[in-house]
Amino acid sequence: MVERTEIALKCIFCASTQFEVPENYEPQEDDTIKCSNCGNFNFYDDLRNVVKVEGRAFFENELKKEIEKNFKNFKFK
Ligand SMILES: [Zn+2]
Repeated sequence: MVERTEIALKCIFCASTQFEVPENYEPQEDDTIKCSNCGNFNFYDDLRNVVKVEGRAFFENELKKEIEKNFKNFKFK
């Protein structure tokens, strides 16, 4: 399973999905999160808005792959 923060967040500067966050970190709405690729700070709220637009399709696709892997005879139409 893909790490939750990697699915949910993407740097608005370089599109990296790697962020320097502590383990079990729960971002608050007005937090800034440091990108570990370019070092810029992203507003968590901005990241969430991006996720709404393009993250959902990616996440659903990942979910389908997981399910199809775990249930070999199950296929989405
Ligand atoms: Zn970045």
